[in-house]
Amino acid sequence: MTAKVIDGKAFAARVRAQVAEHVARLKEENGLTPGLAVVLVGEDPASQVYVRNKHASTIEVGMASFEHRLDAATSEAELLALIDQLNADPKVHGILVQLPLPGHLNAELVINRINPAKDVDGFHISNVGLLGTGQKAMVPCTPLGCLMMLRDHHGKLSGLNAVVVGRSNIVGKPMAQLLLGDSCTVTIAHSRTRDLAEVCRRADILVAAVGRPEMITGDMVRPGATVIDVGINRIERDGKAKLVGDVHYESAAAVAGAITPVPGGVGPMTIACLLANTLTACCRAHGLAEPE
Ligand code: NDP
Repeated sequence: MTAKVIDGKAFAARVRAQVAEHVARLKEENGLTPGLAVVLVGEDPASQVYVRNKHASTIEVGMASFEHRLDAATSEAELLALIDQLNADPKVHGILVQLPLPGHLNAELVINRINPAKDVDGFHISNVGLLGTGQKAMVPCTPLGCLMMLRDHHGKLSGLNAVVVGRSNIVGKPMAQLLLGDSCTVTIAHSRTRDLAEVCRRADILVAAVGRPEMITGDMVRPGATVIDVGINRIERDGKAKLVGDVHYESAAAVAGAITPVPGGVGPMTIACLLANTLTACCRAHGLAEPE
């Protein structure tokens, strides 16, 4: 079997086009421009690339982008003051603090200072609670993008066995909550899981969010399963820099029914979902109908 490739890049382009259309309507009919503020503290090279991409995508769909680049030595008080200012700014509908933050800053404290209605990353404790109890939340972008691709591929997910490898607050846990919300039977695996291969082989849907290059190999995949590879790992192979996922693509694609590539799978969907969340936040802030 050779797996169907789930083209996250093309899917994300469709989502961005829908967002752009909705943004244009908001401008015309309501005189509103959704705004996204991105805060970057320090000079982490990967974070700089992400922030640049987010800025370009935000502008491209017609939204306002507010970038705040702060020195690595910025104090917690200064950062919290900026978040207070963004919370109060009616032009800003979404606030994203790029993680990781430098070690002297308490990420939990900073994230929980964001007005939950503007928390487009969905990391505020209120949004985590709302998602966990099945209420209307801001949903973290990466798992939301994965869910959209899964729904698109499968239609209904009800009753499917889903295994999520990884239990981070950013990806693994919210992914599991979303799959549970769609009535999957969910297993969360992690570094202490016994016989990971056997657990993975039970999955109709296998989501890898581990941060270990090519760790999930074809022998861990049930024939016909759908494999979602969240991992982004920069490695060097044959003297060249290369981006690989947490899944060993060739061996997994030989067994799976469908698979997301790296790059071009989950990554583009994450940014598209960030834009969709910002649009949703803007509509909610003004009591307007939300995008579907
Ligand atoms: P974390 O490091 O926060 O979490 C990794 C998880 O994997 C942990 O729960 C850990 O278990 C588990 N794990 C580690 N080693 C093993 C192992 N040998 N067997 C089983 N489980 C293991 O990572 P993130 O969730 O933040 O990110 C995961 C990956 O996704 C990374 O490659 C990251 O770059 C990528 N990513 C991609 C995004 C995108 O847009 N495509 C967005 C966000 C992340 P334990 O808890 O027991 O330590």
